[in-house]
Amino acid sequence: MNTPRIDSAPSGTLDVLVIGAGISGLYQLYRLTQTDLTFAAVEAGSGVGGTWYWNRYPGARFDSESYTYAFFFSKELREEWSWSEHFAGQPEIESYLNHVADRFDLRKYITFDTRVTAMDFDEDTHTWKVTTANGDVIHARFVITGIGMLSAPQYPPVPGIDDFRGVSAHTGLWPQEGVDVAGKKVAVIGTGSTGVQVISAIAGEVGSLTVYQRTPNWCTPLNNAPITDEEQEQIKSTMDQLHESLKSSFAGFMHNFAPVEAGAVSHEERLKFWEQLYNAPGFAKLLGNYMQVMTDKVYNREFSDFVESKIRTRVHDPKVADLLVPDHGYGAKRPPFETNYYEVYNQPNVELVDLRTTPITKITETGIETTEGTEDFDVIIYATGFDAITGAYDRIDITAGGASLNSAWEDGPFTFVGASAPGFPNLFFLVGPHSSSGNVPRMSERQVDFVTGTLGEAVRRGATRVEATFEAAKEWTDHVYELNSTSLAAEEKIDYTYGTNTPGKKIVFRHYDGGLAGLNAKMTAVEDSSYAGFEFK
Ligand code: NAP
Repeated sequence: MNTPRIDSAPSGTLDVLVIGAGISGLYQLYRLTQTDLTFAAVEAGSGVGGTWYWNRYPGARFDSESYTYAFFFSKELREEWSWSEHFAGQPEIESYLNHVADRFDLRKYITFDTRVTAMDFDEDTHTWKVTTANGDVIHARFVITGIGMLSAPQYPPVPGIDDFRGVSAHTGLWPQEGVDVAGKKVAVIGTGSTGVQVISAIAGEVGSLTVYQRTPNWCTPLNNAPITDEEQEQIKSTMDQLHESLKSSFAGFMHNFAPVEAGAVSHEERLKFWEQLYNAPGFAKLLGNYMQVMTDKVYNREFSDFVESKIRTRVHDPKVADLLVPDHGYGAKRPPFETNYYEVYNQPNVELVDLRTTPITKITETGIETTEGTEDFDVIIYATGFDAITGAYDRIDITAGGASLNSAWEDGPFTFVGASAPGFPNLFFLVGPHSSSGNVPRMSERQVDFVTGTLGEAVRRGATRVEATFEAAKEWTDHVYELNSTSLAAEEKIDYTYGTNTPGKKIVFRHYDGGLAGLNAKMTAVEDSSYAGFEFK
């Protein structure tokens, strides 16, 4: 695409401001370099990477295959970068993203250490006035947010967190200089994907480890391995085919649902298949399974029982195993993928505290107080997750025509194809609400291409104001809820995609169950209909 510059904007106004220099922001910047638009980006961190910049805790790594997560837009990039593991660790991911920023000269567009705090749309000039925490003001015709769906870290709502005199860190705000846990008395609060990774990574190093668990999760092996030379060659020589198959897959992963129905084979055959899946990489357990495991309670129970038997085999103390076995169905919460996680609980220096029976009452100067008593620690690690999906939006005061996005979304987001919201013109979301439920870079790649195309359409029409219609947003939002309403997860509503983990947040589905396939189908239909659903002025 090579669009002419929009020259009707007031002077000093950018055509496009991108917020965030993570996976989505970087690709969006790359796509903007192919246009004649003026653009820039602001990023709260001091470096690129988004999730992979902030979440530098021990054990942080992909659970999508590295080569399926990476960018596909440049043949040269694909050929020159060699991932060392099927599921790369955070340091390698961060250096890859830095390499991308440098390789395509994107860094010059990004102002770092700049957090956006407010945005207001001016109806007279059709531009956004964007204010940053540093007090700077940026004017831009269009704003594209790549601010992440898991980027607003959350601490437990207990008193005393600031009183603790030891070292404490949230995994999503992990210090650049790291945290020394060697030989230390360490507490980890939280056992989601992050907690599971950090616990496994530090258990061999700490003096002692106490894990504070509220909800156990169905964890299954990541089955990571180094990439051999032969595999490397195979991966690189089939990149185009891989990209095509990911783009046409349900969720942007290389794992696809089993071609047979669970009920078409015997219980023994199912167990044999699950044994294979247990030893297969990453998301195979969820997305390479029988689809009925996700849709039919009978098979969901059966697979959950299978995973339970694995937990009970791996954890020696049956009382500890009891606490580690979830009471929800597999997949009702996003399942973590692990490396030697359950074995950690066989170590004599590891204790598991069940917060359902003994909740935390406060953090003291020296440790953690529960209803059972206080334990002292050198280090407290908060692996307590995020105000998910809309949290990053809630933390910016976004207003247009006197209305606020936070208020408009109080009862749940209202979007058109997850990319735009009526009442908030010239604002586009990447990996925001109603748009993501798979391998994130593959979803965001589609979204960036869609948004870039929409901007191109505005330029072609000479339009300076683009807004999703109410009807289009209602149709998409209804579709999001309808798809979700029949899922097993909707019966439990315990996942962060419902906001259940954030005190006071309305319990409503904010994700999208249609995967990349559903999103792509809708976006293609919009593109093919000259952007029906948007109003250009
Ligand atoms: P999470 O899944 O929301 O887990 C947070 C954990 O903290 C849960 O165990 C939660 O318990 C607990 N918690 C929250 N508030 C608490 C409180 N007040 N008191 C006690 N415990 C509390 O967050 P996450 O582990 O950071 O993962 C978020 C998402 O990031 C993942 O689902 C995944 O999508 C992504 N991620 C991906 C990878 C990867 O491998 N690529 C790694 C890490 C994360 P409850 O369950 O009871 O709320």
